[in-house]
Amino acid sequence: MRVDRLLTLGLFNPVKKATDWTKTPRIPILMYHSISEQSFPGKHPYYQTHTPPEIFREQMAILQELDYKVISLRHAAEFLFSSKMPDEKTAVITFDDAYQDFMTHAYPILMDSGFTATVFVPTGLVGKVSERLLNRICLSWDELAELSRNGMEIGSHTITHPKLPLLPREKVSYEIAYSKNEIEERLNREVESFSLPYAFPEGHNSFLRFYYGILKECGYRCGVTTRIGRASPKDGEYGLRRIPINNSDDERFFKAKLEGGYDWIGYLQFFKKFIHSSFV
Ligand SMILES: [Zn+2]
Repeated sequence: MRVDRLLTLGLFNPVKKATDWTKTPRIPILMYHSISEQSFPGKHPYYQTHTPPEIFREQMAILQELDYKVISLRHAAEFLFSSKMPDEKTAVITFDDAYQDFMTHAYPILMDSGFTATVFVPTGLVGKVSERLLNRICLSWDELAELSRNGMEIGSHTITHPKLPLLPREKVSYEIAYSKNEIEERLNREVESFSLPYAFPEGHNSFLRFYYGILKECGYRCGVTTRIGRASPKDGEYGLRRIPINNSDDERFFKAKLEGGYDWIGYLQFFKKFIHSSFV
């Protein structure tokens, strides 16, 4: 049983629809990892970071059926930080870790749907299998180049996929700057987006100030995180929230997530981490 699903569908989504308590502009940025059948027995569905291809196809069909326009992350950031939001319903699709199954399973479905997406690559793991990324193989540079030529945005996800807040500051800068340079040299395209690996360091304000400063200095235009919720200007351009999509999300749950019915989890996440970082 999924408590988050029950509370979303039974309580928070209906309340949100009935009250529409905020007029803040928001865009759902969907967060996927692997598009495959590979699951990890015993792990709660919330922590399963794969989506089977047939479920992914259904979710893309739901976006089409609901008339969502899928735009690039960069465009979404431009909308959020200008005073003008798009007139139509808008969503962004992102993939962390750049697994090779993006090429075989996600890309054909995205092309069929006429959707674009942003793929975040850890540059030191390109073409490799790494324990850090659950022994799944990552895309090669040739594959990334093909995706980039065909309308997919390639963003940076560091070099080695570390927990950045645990590294010395100069290593953090290196992971952020060098990965951008390498993608730009190999693909001959500007890299504008960054995805922070692992949990968002809520409450670690000195790290966050440094981190946001480095992203800006390196020329990134926006950054996404694993903070949950639809993205809004309040997140700041480098702290954008996303909506995690899990392997067992059915149609009702997926629609509720798009509409903001899952945003409440972000508040829970904030208090849990903030309390943890303040007292531990
Ligand atoms: Zn990752």
